[in-house]
Amino acid sequence: MPDSLFILVKAEGTSRKIAVTDKGKLLEYYVENGDESTLVNAIFVGRVENVSPGVKAAFVHIGQPLNGFLPLTEMESFQTAEGEKPLVSGEEIIVQVKKDARDQKGAFLTRDIALPGQYIIYMPFNRYVGVSKRVTEECQRERLTELGRELADGTCGLIMRAGAMDARRDEMAEELAGLASQWEKMQQKAVHLKAPATLYREPSALTALVRDYAPRYELSVTVNNAVNRMPSPEIGLLWGQVSDIELDAAWRSSTVDQQLADALGRRLELNNGGTLVIDEREALTTVDVNSGKYIGEKNSDLALTQNLTACAEIARQLRLRNIGGIILIDFIDMRTDAERAQVTSLLIAQLSHDRGKTVVHGFTKLGLLEMTRKRTGTTLREALQTPCNVCHGTGYRPIKSTSK
Ligand SMILES: [Zn+2]
Repeated sequence: MPDSLFILVKAEGTSRKIAVTDKGKLLEYYVENGDESTLVNAIFVGRVENVSPGVKAAFVHIGQPLNGFLPLTEMESFQTAEGEKPLVSGEEIIVQVKKDARDQKGAFLTRDIALPGQYIIYMPFNRYVGVSKRVTEECQRERLTELGRELADGTCGLIMRAGAMDARRDEMAEELAGLASQWEKMQQKAVHLKAPATLYREPSALTALVRDYAPRYELSVTVNNAVNRMPSPEIGLLWGQVSDIELDAAWRSSTVDQQLADALGRRLELNNGGTLVIDEREALTTVDVNSGKYIGEKNSDLALTQNLTACAEIARQLRLRNIGGIILIDFIDMRTDAERAQVTSLLIAQLSHDRGKTVVHGFTKLGLLEMTRKRTGTTLREALQTPCNVCHGTGYRPIKSTSK
């Protein structure tokens, strides 16, 4: 019996709030407003505005306020398969967004198209065959690599996703054929379009959730009447349509709003008396694990226990807050490498439920655990809050003078 995920979808006007929960814990939260959501994976017919050999990139107009940034050199396998074709200004090319625009930098683009399915990611231009990092068993990785090579048959690149582990070969072959024909149609369409034009947009957050989680979980989705843009309910997907009032009641009993408030705060209480302090900064995020009590030399077993207890909550908070980039975790000091290894492996296990890609690098010389999480879309804070115009993000404001 697979684990279950409960998804609540609350539609109001043109916006939709999506809460993903498991056993009462809020795991992910999304707000979709019309078409403001992420452009990651979107494919455009773009126009090369200028080629800058200095930064080894071309700037491509894709119909967005900022021109996209396209590196001139792509992945080796792409270059081998496609050869070196110099880009020229005014040229119309098909590009895909890898990272959203942020901080005055345009979207990061690639010509090495990748179309994600449930089991595989199809890459028409390169010849690389790989397996998702989420598949950790060596024998599974070998089996999937072999299968991927057979399916790709030297005609395309493929990444075997974690969902491929339980899929049948014919299901994967069918998906590959579907993605290849989707790409074929996009290319035909591109011929008749004038740049800049959109060829493909990622499905809605809900469709993507269903696509990513249906192979691994039993999904139960509850929506209110107002929802119309829906993925077609699939087999194994429990679909419930309820009234606005019933949805509000489910929303309240899942304490979604309270859990969101906690995820927007700095300090979080853990069940065992400890606390987590999470600071999201531009360059990196820090997580500080504190014990509620004084931990002396004698009961440093307590340090290990507290750190182990914190792992699940750290993993959940990073996922819920959708924090990307570098993350440094300051665990309570431990005595031995064996203890540090125990904490590291538990954290990795907890992070494995996250569909965001994470890499744990280990402890730094100063004893901080260093990890990264891939940026996708907006963080929870960006989705729900705007910067404070009093302190401009510092958290401080001038002392009011009391003297006359
Ligand atoms: Zn402020």
